[in-house]
Amino acid sequence: MGILDIVPAGVVSGKDVYKVFDYARENHFAIPAFNVTTSSVANAALEAARDSKSPVILQLSQGGAAYFAGKGLANDKQQASIAGATAAAHYIRSVAPSYGVPVILHSDHCAKKLLPWFDGMLAADEEHFAKTGEPLFSSHMLDLSEEPKEENIKICVEYLKRMAKIGIWLEMEIGITGGEEDGVNNEHVHNSALYTQPEDIWDIYKAFSEITPNFSIAAAFGNVHGVYKPGNVVLRPELLKMHQDYVRDQLKTNKENPVFLVFHGGSGSEKQEIYTAVDNGVIKMNVDTDTQFAYLEGIRDFILNKKDYLMTQVGNPEGPDKPNKKQYDPRVWVREGEKTMSKRCQIAFDDLKSSNKL
Ligand SMILES: [Zn+2]
Repeated sequence: MGILDIVPAGVVSGKDVYKVFDYARENHFAIPAFNVTTSSVANAALEAARDSKSPVILQLSQGGAAYFAGKGLANDKQQASIAGATAAAHYIRSVAPSYGVPVILHSDHCAKKLLPWFDGMLAADEEHFAKTGEPLFSSHMLDLSEEPKEENIKICVEYLKRMAKIGIWLEMEIGITGGEEDGVNNEHVHNSALYTQPEDIWDIYKAFSEITPNFSIAAAFGNVHGVYKPGNVVLRPELLKMHQDYVRDQLKTNKENPVFLVFHGGSGSEKQEIYTAVDNGVIKMNVDTDTQFAYLEGIRDFILNKKDYLMTQVGNPEGPDKPNKKQYDPRVWVREGEKTMSKRCQIAFDDLKSSNKL
């Protein structure tokens, strides 16, 4: 039984999001989440998902959403981030069915100071739900990991109650993930804070599961955002098993992995680390840094190889009257970036074992 026997192609929401993650958990694979900044990037990821026969998660960060709407827009009240996230969501909803894969439409890290962005997206979700019976997004992330645990849980619970009414999944973060993401810099945090404790996971699980089963937790296990020199931080995905064991004991269940876990800061990870994380209940892994570089590679190589065809509109090594339109048309050189990014996405599907799951 493939995933398309359980949920339809296109953007899924409500119970279907649970079904997709539950299917991944039961079949021991994780779904990569690619960050979207333009329609071209979204298309490259969707094309890769279609070719790998995998479900896919497309996500907008606060900065990526503002970029989607246009860097020329003011964003002092998160208005560009709200407009861009909403626009990207409508765009992805429109084209996703054509690619024939289930798509989870998600918004990435939202720290406390960015909550106005979250509020704007949630208002758009509620409006969309009133019209169609479905929220605009499948899922949102709240990242209050910089706040004390009690406050983190309290704010998440408030939002989760509202989100549960319209069937939106919540991803939350606990513990500190190193590195820098959207202006929050944790590069100097002491190492012990980089590993979440099982008791913390249980406190979250207990509070959230009273409201809805539709949530996941990004726990810190030495993860780092962005790519750093290997060896600087020790990734310990085996620690995730402690969380599952602890929650299983509390629930007195025999479910192997009762908690849906998310892997942040996974760029540059070893394959074995990924497999261990997936075996311990990771059902989503963020991939951004590596796909950014891959998108550049195709464009970079095209520009370098075709340099003599790109300096003027007319005239190249084949003759002074030869036109260069076939080289400078953005559909040609941007497409090269889409191709190399798409290839990198396919590697992510294979690494997470989500290929051939339709
Ligand atoms: Zn994170």
